Amino acid sequence: MTFTNERPFIAGNWKMHMTVPEAVELVGQLRDESSGIDAAQFVVIPPFTALKEVHKALEGSSILLGAQNMFWEEKGAFTGEISAPMLKDICCTFVVIGHSERRQHFGDTNETVNKKIKTALAHGLIPIMCIGESLEERENEETIQKIESQITEGLDGLDTADVRQIIIAYEPIWAIGTGRTATPDQAQEVHGFIREKLAEKHGNDVGSYAIILYGGSVKPENTFSLLKEKDINGALVGGASLKAGSFAEIAKEAIKAYEEK
Ligand code: PEP
Repeated sequence: MTFTNERPFIAGNWKMHMTVPEAVELVGQLRDESSGIDAAQFVVIPPFTALKEVHKALEGSSILLGAQNMFWEEKGAFTGEISAPMLKDICCTFVVIGHSERRQHFGDTNETVNKKIKTALAHGLIPIMCIGESLEERENEETIQKIESQITEGLDGLDTADVRQIIIAYEPIWAIGTGRTATPDQAQEVHGFIREKLAEKHGNDVGSYAIILYGGSVKPENTFSLLKEKDINGALVGGASLKAGSFAEIAKEAIKAYEEK
């Protein structure tokens, strides 16, 4: 399946929230709130334990399913890990790779991100690769350098056809779950750089069609100004995706921004 950046892509990362009944209830509410909002692509990313029931609850809807992480090996003695075939089996379309919380607390590096991306693609999962700088790196004016190394190392060895499949989420670490958001200018600068880098290595086509999401305290009130920026194609939303109303509102604001671009 190939996705386009011609309409906003709005993904909700539920992180370690929601028991199975809570997840099913939330997705039911989201189906109601999002019905008729066809100009955005909705994706929900529940915890592993809720994937199966959320998939069932999404039957007949255009909302798609993603997982929050995976391991790079296909099977074996890796207690506690989840493989790409397992996620495929449970009907995931997407998998988040290299979220900053995974990098910060669970040892993900550009090298492991790269391995995970390769395995995900080999199994037909679309990776949502997360990249972003820390506050210290931003203050030291090392943002672009950091993003460049995350892209270069994360996508190392992938051919153009593979890179065309990948969604990139720029998530400044200092903006995740903090209530602080990058300004539209700050976000656009990085998104523009990511697009340029992709074009430089894989051609203008890949650059222009890439879906590049912004993440970091996205809420209905700041969506319009962010999504109006030329190179921002959607949002990876944490906290505000746990309420169906605010998640749907983000999509509506994103659609308005797209109409004005
Ligand atoms: C995230 O989980 O990727 C995220 C951006 O979280 P929040 O929207 O809560 O900052």
